[in-house]
Amino acid sequence: MDGPESPDDRLGDPDRIPTITCSECDQSWELAHELEELHAGNRAVEQFALDHYRHTGHYPDAVTPWIVACQHCVQEEQFLEEAPARRWAETHARHTRHKVGLRTPDGDAEQIAPE
Ligand SMILES: [Zn+2]
Ligand SMILES: [Zn+2]
Repeated sequence: MDGPESPDDRLGDPDRIPTITCSECDQSWELAHELEELHAGNRAVEQFALDHYRHTGHYPDAVTPWIVACQHCVQEEQFLEEAPARRWAETHARHTRHKVGLRTPDGDAEQIAPE
């Protein structure tokens, strides 16, 4: 595993306020408020992205979700993390015996088949 080793990488710069931009809205936001409430940069970005999607129907720039889709049900769900995306796909496949497509943020596609 080649995860981040240095404490600097893990903690980031505490003074840096993450900025999110959305080309669809032609807006940018500083997450100072979120950062104060959540005390963590990555969670602030994730929370903002989820809120933005909930209210506008799209994700801000630089946030690419995991997409799981069942062609059988014409159902699609988006997740910002791999674990819940995989869980949805595996659970759906298990209960419905459908094959579920999983698309990673890198654009790779996978099929989750019922066992
Ligand atoms: Zn937007
Ligand atoms: Zn299905």
